Amino acid sequence: MVGLIRKVLVANRGEIAVRIIRACKELGIKTVAIYSEADKDSLHTRLANERICIGPSTSADSYLDMHAVLSACEVTKADAIHPGFGFLSENSRFVKICEKLGITFIGPSSDVIASMGDKAEAKNTMKKAKVPVIPGSDGIVQNPIEAKVMAEEIGFPLLMKASAGGGGRGIRIVNNMSEVESQFTAAASEALSCFGDAGIYMEKFIENPKHIEVQILADKKGNVVELGERDCSLQIKNQKVLEETPSASKVLTPKIRKMMGDTARKAARAVGYEGAGTIEFLLDDDGDFYFMEMNTRIQVEHPITEEVTGIDLIKWQFRIANGIPLDFTQRSIRIDGHSIECRINAADPSNGFAPSPGKITKLHFPGGKGVRIETAISEGSVISPFYDSMIAKIITHGKDRNEAIAIMYRALNEMQIEGIKTNLEFQRNLIRNKEFLKGQYNTGFFKNIYRLYK
Ligand code: ADP
Ligand code: ADP
Ligand code: MG
Repeated sequence: MVGLIRKVLVANRGEIAVRIIRACKELGIKTVAIYSEADKDSLHTRLANERICIGPSTSADSYLDMHAVLSACEVTKADAIHPGFGFLSENSRFVKICEKLGITFIGPSSDVIASMGDKAEAKNTMKKAKVPVIPGSDGIVQNPIEAKVMAEEIGFPLLMKASAGGGGRGIRIVNNMSEVESQFTAAASEALSCFGDAGIYMEKFIENPKHIEVQILADKKGNVVELGERDCSLQIKNQKVLEETPSASKVLTPKIRKMMGDTARKAARAVGYEGAGTIEFLLDDDGDFYFMEMNTRIQVEHPITEEVTGIDLIKWQFRIANGIPLDFTQRSIRIDGHSIECRINAADPSNGFAPSPGKITKLHFPGGKGVRIETAISEGSVISPFYDSMIAKIITHGKDRNEAIAIMYRALNEMQIEGIKTNLEFQRNLIRNKEFLKGQYNTGFFKNIYRLYK
């Protein structure tokens, strides 16, 4: 590819680092892997053209160490950084430093990330742009007294959410006025220790909504397209378990789907968005939908959108950064068939999905038509307790939902993994669950159908 980026430092690990390195190889961009001691022999470290150690194995923070990452960039003379997801991907301070140093950050500008990364601030921005938002506080709630006034206005149940939160963490439900003060204090101190920011905002708890998100691509020439939705309603503790596109929900009529797509494009335009991004909405049974947050990065579940659109989102992130305009229009995008992703986690379902580190003694991944595997693990890999428990994604693509499900069931049965505890059997049960097969599920699925949590 003729362009400005010749060498990129991949500031991540695991399957997403591998996914990015593979895209770079196809684009003719050289790659630099960063790794902690624990990841010395991992696949991303081996696949990259160059590798550089950024920290000790006993630290979960290596990949969060801005100075180490930037030094690695300087030493290897990389001209760009792809952040993947998690870690520094939505850290506007980091992106600002990249901008100052003349390093191309694969993502939107630091200003856009700052305005969207703070979730309370993002809701205000969206409200001004006339995008419907979940009713709640306008911005951060300063103290318990203000929290009580706000609670009176919103009603119960309500949620207290960390404005800097992510990955399903930092969210608390409050059922009545007597809980407000203690929950506010606890939420603020938890937010400070987890995200380095005590900011809490409050919003109405929507009962059993659907989590529907819209994928956006925006180039530097002002073209903004949406690539359809992903239904991510199947969540445990606010964390996604299985995602599919298109959504099978009857609530999401063609008219509402179009409205959500148009709203997502409007939201992206309102902040001058560039690159790949996702607008997350909650959709209720009446067909009303509300902006929840924008993720200014590539997402875990991006492959299902790639499967049905045929568009490589990671490659487009690079092309957009290089100033190349989109070579397709909204009208030319076609949704072909159906795609599902199952997240395979090193987690123990019989112990509240607690992380289950250890050595993988036996491993077989499924293959065949319609199956795509995104992973960095292999037989003999050691799953470290320091990092996220998601270790593989199985993605299937079929001509319709039934076929995508049949392929997934076949693939999950073919997969073998031994030595650590995983949610593989849990996913096998989920994919043939009668209520799942009907497609009419919402975020209350595991609570209401599986009676998993109260
Ligand atoms: P997605 O939003 O892409 O579907 P998740 O919400 O599960 O996926 O988050 C993506 C990854 O980034 C996960 O590994 C999660 O642990 C991590 N992550 C996301 N946001 C944060 C954050 N603010 N702090 C820490 N980790 C985060
Ligand atoms: P994160 O940044 O951690 O991804 P989100 O704001 O996207 O946090 O919320 C994560 C999940 O929590 C949502 O997908 C949804 O299931 C649930 N949730 C968040 N806000 C609400 C709400 N106001 N009402 C009901 N459920 C909510
Ligand atoms: Mg979210």
